[in-house]
Amino acid sequence: MNNPRVYVDPPLQEGQQVALDPSTSHHLMRVLRLNVGQIITVCDGQGNDYRATLLPPRGTGRQQQVWVTLGSCQPNKAEHAHALHIGVAPISGERFERMLEQLAEMGVVSVTPLLTERTNVRQISEPKLQRWRRVATEASQLAGRGSPLRIAAPMRLVQFLQTADDGCLLHQLAAPAPVTFEYNHLAVGPEGGFTNAEVSMAGGRGWHCWSLGPRNLRVETAALVGAVLSLH
Ligand code: SAH
Repeated sequence: MNNPRVYVDPPLQEGQQVALDPSTSHHLMRVLRLNVGQIITVCDGQGNDYRATLLPPRGTGRQQQVWVTLGSCQPNKAEHAHALHIGVAPISGERFERMLEQLAEMGVVSVTPLLTERTNVRQISEPKLQRWRRVATEASQLAGRGSPLRIAAPMRLVQFLQTADDGCLLHQLAAPAPVTFEYNHLAVGPEGGFTNAEVSMAGGRGWHCWSLGPRNLRVETAALVGAVLSLH
């Protein structure tokens, strides 16, 4: 089994002692039941993995913190050379969270919840966003990633289209996607789909609109297939 992986904000350096936050400490001590002297991987979220040794915890109760000594540093090998950012209209319930886990495992760099004309889940509360971020980080840890999948602040489609000149908007009624599919930015619509006006707006901004076939895919299926095509 891989060593448990935790992300700690940089800068980090070999030989340094660092404290892990109380919730990570709780997970390592109470859930995984690790002991002093055991080895974990501490990652700075920028692609550097440190072999770290657990020291005795300090503090008590909910504030108890595990400390570690950082040993040798190695570059993380689990990140794609191709950076993929996906904007996707949120769907309610657990389906969105399962999708985030899968996109984290695939190596997607960021997911931006998109607000479109037909997005149902307009109210994306701060606690929900925090929960999505936790889900994304935990899935990225388990996948061994050097940087966790980032969940950006929700954005209107028009703004997301402005973040890149040549992304791809996925739309069932567009022409079939080409064999070579090398986009860094993908947009996936809500359950009701993108409106014709949104599809034209994307085209007007230099984005390509492609279909993944004649079937009506669920939001999360379209996002996953788009990620597979872009990353392989
Ligand atoms: N009937 C809707 C389907 C929405 S499905 C429509 O007319 O578009 C939700 C999103 O998944 C769509 O907005 C699109 O981004 C993506 N999607 C679903 N099926 C797709 C397909 N066959 N090709 C490309 N994208 C698709």
